[in-house]
Amino acid sequence: MASQTGAIVQQSLNALMGDSSFLPNLQDQAREQAFKSLGSILSTPNKVHKAFLRITLDNGSVVRIPAYRIQHNDTLGPYKGGIRFHESVNEEEVTNLAALMTLKNALHEVPFGGGKGGVVISPRNYSSKELYTICKKYVQYFSDVIGPDKDIPAPDMGTGEREMDWMMSEYKSITPGFPYLGSFTGKSVINGGSLGRREATGKGVYYTFRYMLHDFLKSQSGWLAGSSNPYVQTALGHADRQLSIAVQGFGNVGSVASLEAYKCSYLHNKVVAVSDRNVTLYNPDGLSIPTLIEYTARNRGDLPGTEEALAELDIKAEILGREEVLYLNADVLILAALEEQIRGDNVERVKARILVEGANAPITGEADEVLTKRGTIIIPDILANAGGVIVSYFEWLQGRETQFFTEEHVYTMLFEKMQKTLNSILPAYFGDSYSLRENCYNHAVMKLSTVLYKQGKLY
Ligand code: NAD
Repeated sequence: MASQTGAIVQQSLNALMGDSSFLPNLQDQAREQAFKSLGSILSTPNKVHKAFLRITLDNGSVVRIPAYRIQHNDTLGPYKGGIRFHESVNEEEVTNLAALMTLKNALHEVPFGGGKGGVVISPRNYSSKELYTICKKYVQYFSDVIGPDKDIPAPDMGTGEREMDWMMSEYKSITPGFPYLGSFTGKSVINGGSLGRREATGKGVYYTFRYMLHDFLKSQSGWLAGSSNPYVQTALGHADRQLSIAVQGFGNVGSVASLEAYKCSYLHNKVVAVSDRNVTLYNPDGLSIPTLIEYTARNRGDLPGTEEALAELDIKAEILGREEVLYLNADVLILAALEEQIRGDNVERVKARILVEGANAPITGEADEVLTKRGTIIIPDILANAGGVIVSYFEWLQGRETQFFTEEHVYTMLFEKMQKTLNSILPAYFGDSYSLRENCYNHAVMKLSTVLYKQGKLY
């Protein structure tokens, strides 16, 4: 498991072990044994599946591409997690992401376990015919271990609706006569996907931030006003004033989170910077996010990267290097691109006092420690980016029932679920010395431990 995830899980287990009110029937040696069991269950995946997909490329050559499906834990339900197409995919990364899914689902009370998949390719270098074959082969190689009640994949970096539609259709061909709509989530709506799924992660990222900085602070202002907790000070220092927001990554998560921030009527934001794999665009007076979204839709997802392109769009912005977004003078930084963007070697340059993890693990453990000591608020991935899996759960439900919800209903249920989690975590966060990430992990580990104990699995 990732050193940061593994270390926090162990820290949670140590705290729970010493808390006599937690599982009070477990005493002495039995307690020690049970917590050892828990440590090993949570730190290792149940199953690692690896295959080499045999693909004939358009030029006639045959390649074998490494692919993974890693099933971390299914205590709370079938394994669930995305499939990533990226050149840096490797077993350790997929295992870490699968473990994060187990904890994320436990935290948000989504009845799934944790899994993750990956294929070691750079999708931009493949034609759509080749990608279609890769998707079909992925399902063929892993068909024994995936399925609506076993393991339900979804999109992740480099995959989207198109790939989920292809994969579901292959699953349907391989298992004739069996229900197939629940085999993959993140499908197009016409193929049994859920309204609102595409926007769910980005909307959830922004909602988490807004709920914490606006709704929660307002509703709890009495006791918070007298608190000397450093995170309360940071939060109150950012309440009721215009906030400047920078967003790294302008794909599915980043563009939707930017648009939510741009449109928000609760907080008076300015989205001053957005970035992608090529550039950062910066304007301290704010950027027109709808115009940029329209442009990326026409340009394979890329932001305008030249003065001419900006002039054509009538957008005024400085064009900076892609990493510059991390170091700008902004109140809030939403990280929605990749892992390990803020590390020990660049954390000192980060000025924002509120960081929101839209991507998984964009802040390393070392950088997290430095920021936390500074009183910076970090809204962690496990809390902020769960919108995708929550709406995937709604999609799975709709597929099982073949009854479909309106978009409005999906968002209402999404925000209710996220609000419930936030209300169970924020009072503890603002009241004790644990970071928000630690509080979320404690909550998730407590839930998993209790279920495992009641199932008689802690021997
Ligand atoms: P995406 O592929 O749609 O977008 C990724 C964005 O990051 C693009 O704008 C791309 O140009 C940019 N980017 C790529 N390399 C970069 C680099 N080196 N520096 C800066 N920017 C770079 O992906 P997405 O679906 O938006 O996912 C983004 C992150 O969120 C990933 O870490 C993913 O695991 C995580 N996530 C996504 C979902 C989901 O539902 N899509 C759910 C949970 C977590």
